[in-house]
Amino acid sequence: MPPDPARQVETARLLLEAARYLGETLEPTRVYERFREILRDAIPHDGVIVSSFDPEQQVIRCEYAWVEGELLDVSIFPPLRLQATGGMQSEVIRTGLPLLTNDVPNRVRDSGTYYDVDGGGRIRKVPEEGPPKTQAALMLPVKHEGQVVGVVQLMTDSDAYDEAQLELAEGMVAQLGAAVRNARLHEEALRAGAEAAAARATARERERAAQVLEAVGDGIFSVDDAEAIGFWNRAAETITGMSAEAVHARTLAELGDGWATLRASVPAARADERPRAVTLPIDLDGRELWLSFVAVRTGDGVVYAFRDMTFERQFEESKYEFVATVSHELRTPMTAVLGAANTLLRGDIDLAPETSRQLLEMIATQAARLSEVTESVLLAGRLDRGEVDVERARVDVDGVVAQTVDALEPNLPATVRIERSLGAPGAVIGDANRLQQVLINLLDNAAKYSPNGGTITVRTARADGRIVIEVADEGTGIDAAERDRIFEKFYRGDSSNRLVPGGTGLGLYICRELLERMGGTIGVSSRPGAGSTFTVELTAA
Ligand code: ADP
Repeated sequence: MPPDPARQVETARLLLEAARYLGETLEPTRVYERFREILRDAIPHDGVIVSSFDPEQQVIRCEYAWVEGELLDVSIFPPLRLQATGGMQSEVIRTGLPLLTNDVPNRVRDSGTYYDVDGGGRIRKVPEEGPPKTQAALMLPVKHEGQVVGVVQLMTDSDAYDEAQLELAEGMVAQLGAAVRNARLHEEALRAGAEAAAARATARERERAAQVLEAVGDGIFSVDDAEAIGFWNRAAETITGMSAEAVHARTLAELGDGWATLRASVPAARADERPRAVTLPIDLDGRELWLSFVAVRTGDGVVYAFRDMTFERQFEESKYEFVATVSHELRTPMTAVLGAANTLLRGDIDLAPETSRQLLEMIATQAARLSEVTESVLLAGRLDRGEVDVERARVDVDGVVAQTVDALEPNLPATVRIERSLGAPGAVIGDANRLQQVLINLLDNAAKYSPNGGTITVRTARADGRIVIEVADEGTGIDAAERDRIFEKFYRGDSSNRLVPGGTGLGLYICRELLERMGGTIGVSSRPGAGSTFTVELTAA
């Protein structure tokens, strides 16, 4: 048949239109829609089905299905395996050649599997479930770099197709293939962009979480299932004194004894459980810290959080010690008072007047001791609460020292004597009563911690606008390790418990607090076994 010039012109026009418009949209379904619209008049059809072919898996999948005016959901079409013989789609894929048939009912009687689908999306196997409605079909391969990657089917229930239509469709499908590829690439680019944005967001979240972990006050670290330490935050560095670099990839056991038992001692909670805190002593370069740990299991290990409870622990201990010491300190004089009073009250024995007087004296002394202990406890409490007022007046130092020594001397044990070395330093700004209280405490201690007796020397001097009062003894002395701690509330030295009876551990604490309120300081130097020297400094008036 000679080519029909009018039809050739129409074909050229349609191809041009396809080239122009198919590439306009970047959505595959819209590309298919436009393809169908462009050839609506040139190739009348009741159905258009576009399938893709995956050469690796040898599977044909429906990508677009328009049947009897309806766009169908492609998921209703099961993926098909490429058939070795027969099957119209399979044949196009196998040969890479287009196919025109005007006798579909006859074709489907061949070998192969054929389906027919209507506008309601009902799929029937033909001819087993009745004859196909489709009379004629154009099947065109979609190629990419010479390989078939899909098939376009145009179907009609009433007409027949001719070679010219096949040619037109072929040309159009070539354009369609390119347009769909572009659309796919665009979709992929969008997806990759979205994935990159999501990855960036996750990275930002991670970074923020890491910043928070760095900033929190609790030590936090992770240990993987192979026991190696990974993350180690700044607080962990500060509390333990070990840098993240120094512990990285080491095992807990390598950090020392306390750490080695962490896994066994601290139960690791699962995500849905409440972690239980366990407080453990951890040795760090000879320093014992009490750390409270919680542990949470993660995908590939355990995350530990810990805080330093050393202070709280010491506080608890000192509270306990306080109760024990104060009760002991009160019980001893009370027992004596009670015993003496009961003896005096007995009607069955006649006490010599001298004995009665001694018993009464003992009651007076012990009652004074009782009130001393309670006074100390009350004063320490008031100092803590900031309720103690200290006068700031001119106080003649040598005068207060002489008066205090005079008052104390008669009560000292016979083995102890006091030597005065007063350097007429002048006056300080302070509170005479409170300064006297400090001196009584220091002189009392000097005598108490000189169990074998000795000389207590009280010295006063002036230097650089400061006035110094020293109380030196020849007693037990104080171990270097204890010298800082003896000014703490309730702290009692080890030796004092063994060698000397009595004491609340409040005396030096009260001295330091009172002196601070007068703008003064107190310090100690000592040779264990040979004596101690307490030095008070105040501003000269
Ligand atoms: P207390 O005497 O009631 O124990 P202090 O606060 O006065 O409490 O003293 C605290 C500790 O300091 C004492 O337990 C003792 O170990 C030590 N200490 C104080 N003064 C002396 C001293 N002159 N010589 C030796 N040790 C002392």
